[in-house]
Amino acid sequence: MIRFGPAGNSDSFYAQGFQASWQAPAWLRAMGLNAYEYSFGRGVQLGEEMARKIAAQAKANDIAVSAHAPYFINLANPDPEKRERSFQYILDSARLVTLLGGDRVVVHVGAQMKMERGEALENCRAGLLEACRRLDGAGLSQVHLCPETMGRPSQIGDLTETLDFCLLDGRFIPCLDFAHLHALGQGALNTTEDFARVLDAVESALGIDRAREMHVHFSTIEYTAAGEKRHRTFAEEKYGPRFDRLAPLFKERGYTPRVICECHGTMAEDAKTMMEIFNGEE
Ligand SMILES: [Zn+2]
Repeated sequence: MIRFGPAGNSDSFYAQGFQASWQAPAWLRAMGLNAYEYSFGRGVQLGEEMARKIAAQAKANDIAVSAHAPYFINLANPDPEKRERSFQYILDSARLVTLLGGDRVVVHVGAQMKMERGEALENCRAGLLEACRRLDGAGLSQVHLCPETMGRPSQIGDLTETLDFCLLDGRFIPCLDFAHLHALGQGALNTTEDFARVLDAVESALGIDRAREMHVHFSTIEYTAAGEKRHRTFAEEKYGPRFDRLAPLFKERGYTPRVICECHGTMAEDAKTMMEIFNGEE
């Protein structure tokens, strides 16, 4: 089934006096949501005991948990020490997401740095395969790495590159960040046809079954010529992309993605709005 939830905790969660992420699953369920993405963006700092506490709450409240791996990962970097650190971040994220009761880890694969694009991509491909071997070696084969589509040309992971990565191993689940695709394309996603072309590309690369299970990041976004600037909220009407153009396609094509909202501060409220749009209530 399709699921909706926030990346991290909304401002309103804290404004209502809640302080800890183990309180989030019940709070999300009360809003009618059923997914939650825990961020290790600035490091994997979650203790095992707290992870288990969140997992128990998530299970009790039917919240599907995923995790976002640290932003410091760069599998394009040829430096052996830096690569080791990237693998460690991935392994730590995989271990903790398992304790959280989830099996999806979203990864920013890399940055081009001063390399030719082809060389950076080759390093990333080798790195992703090595990451899979490390997961297998650590008994974490059940974890799905989700390479994410990125919002800046300096980053690795446009749509084609991301789909190519997912062809390396059947366990990879593409993370389609539609805000990033919109920013990278300088406002490319407006009509339902624009979104349909993206889904068509996923289906033709990975097949309909894998496309239907995709991981989705959705928010509005501000961008410049250099791509992504910052995530915005749905209330800020001048920013795209807009979920009402995508939702009918998910329905028509029988998709059951995990849709995570990354709007700035209002991620739970805006996830709820997406759920209502999908259910035809908005
Ligand atoms: Zn991300």
